[in-house]
Amino acid sequence: MRRLAQFQTLLALVLASAAAVASTSAPAQDRFAERAAMIETIKGHARSAPSAVEGQGIDPAVLKTMGKVPRHLFVPEEQRSAAYRDRPLPIGYGQTISQPFIVALMTDLINVGPGDSVLEIGTGSGYQAAVLSPLAAKVYSIEIIPELGERAAARLAELRLNNVEVKVDDGYYGWPTHAPFDGIVVTAAASHIPPPLVDQLAKGGRMVVPVGGPFATQFLMLVEKRMDGSITTLQLLPVSFVPLRGGGAR
Ligand code: SAH
Repeated sequence: MRRLAQFQTLLALVLASAAAVASTSAPAQDRFAERAAMIETIKGHARSAPSAVEGQGIDPAVLKTMGKVPRHLFVPEEQRSAAYRDRPLPIGYGQTISQPFIVALMTDLINVGPGDSVLEIGTGSGYQAAVLSPLAAKVYSIEIIPELGERAAARLAELRLNNVEVKVDDGYYGWPTHAPFDGIVVTAAASHIPPPLVDQLAKGGRMVVPVGGPFATQFLMLVEKRMDGSITTLQLLPVSFVPLRGGGAR
């Protein structure tokens, strides 16, 4: 009898893992219509935010990629029904997955190309990294909360996004061993533009970073390093991000 119970438990486990594999191996088809609706919402949002996108809208390659990435697999079970709404959602540990429009905008702003090496600060759920993955050659992402970083790395591996590397660390200091980066995306609000990240930006590279205190208005900033090494910064639009933590951010 006990053996039978053990066998049943084992079978249940095998079936559960088979179901988990099945649910992640066909992500592109799953909830396709909701993703298509999300893309239309993003396009509409981009049209009504002309100062942010210089009236040009979001790059079609970015929208195409976002039409494929299964966002619902990056949010907790209880948030799955809301996964494709154009708003941020809680992912645990007091953190959030960014609103789809903001993910599209930040990805668009760094002009990521097929040969590019991109750095993300704030892996969170891993969704932004998953969107960058097919557009870039290599994506490096740093998360300060170990549980979130480990979970995101496992999720990205399950989806076979093998060009993404995640590490648990304070992203304020960047990832010097892999610098310079053609694009840098900071997904937590800093009190100032982190100088180590500016240093690690390649010539001709672009960084997007929300700047401002947690209780003050934050602005999304676009930082460009020209070919002569000079830096330009442009304040784009007001945003609301969780704060960048860690030693350097203070
Ligand atoms: N890009 C994420 C959203 C991230 S929310 C996504 O697509 O889901 C911001 C994340 O930044 C949080 O997970 C937070 O823990 C992380 N974070 C905050 N300060 C950090 C730091 N100094 N270094 C690395 N990650 C940091």
